Amino acid sequence: MIDFSVPTEVTTFIRQLRDFIHDDVVPLEGTLVDEDFRGGDGRLETEVLPPLREKARQAGVYGPQIPEEFGGLGLPLTTLAFVSEVCGPHPLASLAINMMAPDEATMHLLEMFGSDEQHERWLRPLAEGRIRSCFAMTEPDAGSDPSRISSLARRTGAGWRIDGHKVFTSGAVGAALCVVMAASDPDAPRRDRVSMFIVPTDAEGFEVVRELKPMGYRELGGLCEVRLSGVEVGSEALLGDLGAGLSMAQARLARGRLGHAMRWIGIAQAALDLAAERALQRETFGQQLSKRQAIQWWLADGATQLSASRLMVLNALWRIEQGVPHKAQISMIKTYVAETLDKIVDDALQVFGGWGYVTDFPLERWYRDARAARIYDGPSEVHRWAVARELLNEVETTGTARRISGDVLGQLI
Ligand SMILES: Cc1cc2nc3c(=O)[nH]c(=O)nc-3n(C[C@H](O)[C@H](O)[C@H](O)COP(=O)(O)OP(=O)(O)OC[C@H]3O[C@@H](n4cnc5c(N)ncnc54)[C@H](O)[C@@H]3O)c2cc1C
Repeated sequence: MIDFSVPTEVTTFIRQLRDFIHDDVVPLEGTLVDEDFRGGDGRLETEVLPPLREKARQAGVYGPQIPEEFGGLGLPLTTLAFVSEVCGPHPLASLAINMMAPDEATMHLLEMFGSDEQHERWLRPLAEGRIRSCFAMTEPDAGSDPSRISSLARRTGAGWRIDGHKVFTSGAVGAALCVVMAASDPDAPRRDRVSMFIVPTDAEGFEVVRELKPMGYRELGGLCEVRLSGVEVGSEALLGDLGAGLSMAQARLARGRLGHAMRWIGIAQAALDLAAERALQRETFGQQLSKRQAIQWWLADGATQLSASRLMVLNALWRIEQGVPHKAQISMIKTYVAETLDKIVDDALQVFGGWGYVTDFPLERWYRDARAARIYDGPSEVHRWAVARELLNEVETTGTARRISGDVLGQLI
């Protein structure tokens, strides 16, 4: 029998986390604005975050995904998925427990591919929340297709000299390190061209040119344009194998995409609950909104899509644990959950009418944030394309797309 029960240790931890968010995070949320999460005046990072992280440590919820040897809790992936969901509507909560993008993914990347020296120099201070990181893959002419990357890493006697122009680098203001993807062998075949380098942001020639101004998206350190002009780094700056940058980026993104999906599920659930509460309270033309079929259908469709989203994530987690292929499932989740979030938040905003459009309620912010989910970590169209390619290949070789379309028996027979 398929077992959907959640172990007691997971529910106990999630309860602890919920209490921490309720008691320590929610009261601070109203005092922060979007600008605080961008470059801002640094108040969030210097005044708000340190005492909040101390409280998170005392509450036993700090660093759920960080390995125990680096001071975290080292919780399993399934628990982390629930953690992401609970933190979803509260970006400050993810920051408080040090499980926010892009540092969560950088730590995972360092854990998977870093040397002992890189672990001590970078992973430990990241895990302890003493420094922040950013990840620079996207360029003005290389977004969805990172094999087009034109930033160059040339060998010098002592290491590498990097030149490049990056955009959409989340968190670059105030970051101590930037993981830069650059072509180390520009003429090599696509999969071997690009490598990853850890660049200290105080290196000469590393410059945050400007902060882009996004319509939403609360992430500490802004969304930035970055330039690297003859940045010299030692040979120890190379992360992982030479030429393995693209496959490492996929490994980094796979787990990040599941984390995002669960955060989006958390936000969509909060929006659906708000919409249902409002529909029960609000009367127009002598009747509650909740009695109108148009509103009921939005709520029912939202709950249905959320339910499917959750099952998709659980199935992907199961596949990861079983070592069963899951690339197509991650792409489906990235697309489906991002679009579900967009739809539910949009419908909820409509249920609130004009009140959904102003800042008295969180819906207008979630609406702005949700729009980006269909773009970052691969636009929906690129993920659909990836699923279709795998599906067609599967049908060509086996005569059926059962495995791709979630048939559990398809794994076994
Ligand atoms: C909020 C936010 C945060 C981000 N953070 C980071 C970060 O920290 N680090 C980083 O390196 N990057 C980051 N990015 C960049 C992000 O990953 C890119 O925006 C994304 O990969 C798309 O690239 P692009 O914007 O250049 O669009 P393009 O590659 O120009 O694509 C434009 C559109 O073309 C269509 N398209 C492209 N390819 C196909 C295809 N094969 N089939 C059908 N349609 C297609 C899609 O509709 C797509 O939206 C961030 C972006 C946002 C919005």
